[in-house]
Amino acid sequence: MRLFKAADIKILPALLALLAMVGIPAITSLVVQYDYLHGLQRISDERLTLYGSTFNSALQKYEYLPDLIARANEIKSLLTGDGSLEAANNFLATANKKAKSAAIYIMDTKGKVIAASDWQKKDSFIDLDLGFRPYFKEALKGHGGKFFGIGIMEGEPGFYVSHPIRDDEKIIGVASTKIALSPLGNLWQKGGETVFVADENDVIILSSRPAWKYRTLVPLSQEVQDRIRKREQYPEPKIKRLQSKPSSLLGFDEIIINSKRFLINSRTIAGMGWKISYLISEKALWERTLGITLTSFVLVCGAILTWMLYRERRQRLLSRKQAEEAEKFRQMNKQLALEIEERKRTEKELREAQEELVQAGKLAALGEMATAIAHELNQPIAASKTYIASCRLMFSRNKTDDLDQTLLKISNLCDRMGKVTSQLKSFIRKSSNKKKEFDLRQAIDEALTLMKHQFKTEECDLHLRLPDVPVSIMGDRVRLEQVLINLYRNALDSLQKTERPVIGVTLTTQNGVARIHVWDNGPGIAEDIGNRLFEPFVTTKKEGVGVGLGLSISYKIIRDMKGKIRGGNRPGGGAEFTLTLPLSIPATSNKEINGKS
Ligand code: ADP
Repeated sequence: MRLFKAADIKILPALLALLAMVGIPAITSLVVQYDYLHGLQRISDERLTLYGSTFNSALQKYEYLPDLIARANEIKSLLTGDGSLEAANNFLATANKKAKSAAIYIMDTKGKVIAASDWQKKDSFIDLDLGFRPYFKEALKGHGGKFFGIGIMEGEPGFYVSHPIRDDEKIIGVASTKIALSPLGNLWQKGGETVFVADENDVIILSSRPAWKYRTLVPLSQEVQDRIRKREQYPEPKIKRLQSKPSSLLGFDEIIINSKRFLINSRTIAGMGWKISYLISEKALWERTLGITLTSFVLVCGAILTWMLYRERRQRLLSRKQAEEAEKFRQMNKQLALEIEERKRTEKELREAQEELVQAGKLAALGEMATAIAHELNQPIAASKTYIASCRLMFSRNKTDDLDQTLLKISNLCDRMGKVTSQLKSFIRKSSNKKKEFDLRQAIDEALTLMKHQFKTEECDLHLRLPDVPVSIMGDRVRLEQVLINLYRNALDSLQKTERPVIGVTLTTQNGVARIHVWDNGPGIAEDIGNRLFEPFVTTKKEGVGVGLGLSISYKIIRDMKGKIRGGNRPGGGAEFTLTLPLSIPATSNKEINGKS
């Protein structure tokens, strides 16, 4: 497997991957934490309700005991001096046993214990002076008192409930019950959970953790400390503070005690100013959070790695596919090049075959012309023969006066024959391959320059209209000039008897073709040859002037240049020949160009 190269890792996807690697586990951990905390809060609410109600019922069931005791005859009569101490003590002992309280005792109005359920014990309440206890003072005022404190004799913590004993309306003593809280604490401890009760001084009086007992979580004011000392409420006069700090976690109350984090949920115990708190260690929460964070981190990393591998694989497949396609294209191009080559070869072969055919066609045409040529040449040859015979006769008779005239006639006949053969040569000549791009305006000008002398001699006016811009065509310029010269020549010949001879030459372009119009104001083309104008040896000129090959040669030259030649008479009189030739730069043909005189 190929390893990822540094260059493969693009910055944006890498950043996104990093963000996912950090962000997803972080968010997951937060969501899990919040959900877990929510669950813990619900549990702690339930537990707190349970612990609170157990605690409340443990105390409330004794709340009415002192009142009941205060109403008993054995007690009242003891205080009024009518009853016996023994009867009172026995009554208290029986009541204490049945109620399962720690102790029940009776105090006189000075706070001295005069009767007690434990009167038989060595460390009995009897004779103790409890006048300083708040619950005694409260009872003397006429209502029930409640108090948490350490027993003076046995040093056992207990909850004290008191009630005044009345004789009619007069308070004659106080009945009090001590309830031991230690069994409840022991029970909580066994449960393995962390729960404590703090009293109105914020001192923990009951806890599932013995070490926290008689400790406080908040700093106590001097006034509270003095009061505590005076009441001798706790085993030690100075209350120590647990090393603690309140905090908050995602909106839930948290407390750090001795560097350990707990979620804390507290509730006030109705009517006493006490508070019961339930704590849950965050250890499990952090373990769970760490587990889930690590799991999600591993999963995200796995997903990113899988994605990268998938991308890499896809990229590789894509590259392979592209390479295959490129190879296919290369093969296709190669095939195409071969086909083009093949076509070019075929085209060349065809062109050669065509040339051959053209040549063969010419020869066939030559064959067809043979009779005409024979006829054309036979006449001057026969005439020449006659003239030569008469010359010989003149010589033999020594009559040389007309010899020069006769020889001139022979020479003219030879010229005529020479013309036929030279034009014939031009006809059968294979088209030259001197195809080049040239400006039609220049070819027209050049042909006119060659004919300048004839125009002047025959006093012929020239109406020339050529465009300002070049009109390029592809072909053999010299041969086109030959065509033009032939047209000028024919026009000049036809104008022999015209009073004001005019020849017009116009060059225009339209739709990708160039048009050359050569017109004159002569008599026009003779009616009888109108259909055969471009056939060889068709002429109306007198013998010695024309042989009738000019237009047929022109026809062939123009056809070789992929053009057309037409000839006809103008409506206003005179003949007009039109050459149509394809432009070599069709772009310019889009713009119509008209010749300017
Ligand atoms: P030639 O000039 O040797 O006669 P051409 O093939 O050039 O051969 O012309 C054929 C004939 O076409 C001419 O003899 C003439 O009758 C006719 N012709 C050509 N051009 C004109 C013209 N401008 N006006 C009248 N007739 C013409």
